Amino acid sequence: MTWIVRIDEALCQGHGVCESESPEVFVLPKRARTVTIITERPDDTHRVAVEAAVRYCPTHALRIEETD
Ligand code: SF4
Repeated sequence: MTWIVRIDEALCQGHGVCESESPEVFVLPKRARTVTIITERPDDTHRVAVEAAVRYCPTHALRIEETD
């Protein structure tokens, strides 16, 4: 089972919580309004941190999609 990180850019307001939780997966460039996902398919070592990012994103812009 693999997984993909998805973002709804319309919801992202650049709070940067996700970057704090998982800086190897999310980066918020200076003056950017939306976060950049460095890798949509992180390996499992990032799963817990990405789940925290999803949970704590204040605008619920992130989700994890399970794939086969
Ligand atoms: S925490 Fe949510 S709103 Fe903030 S930058 Fe990340 S995805 Fe965007």
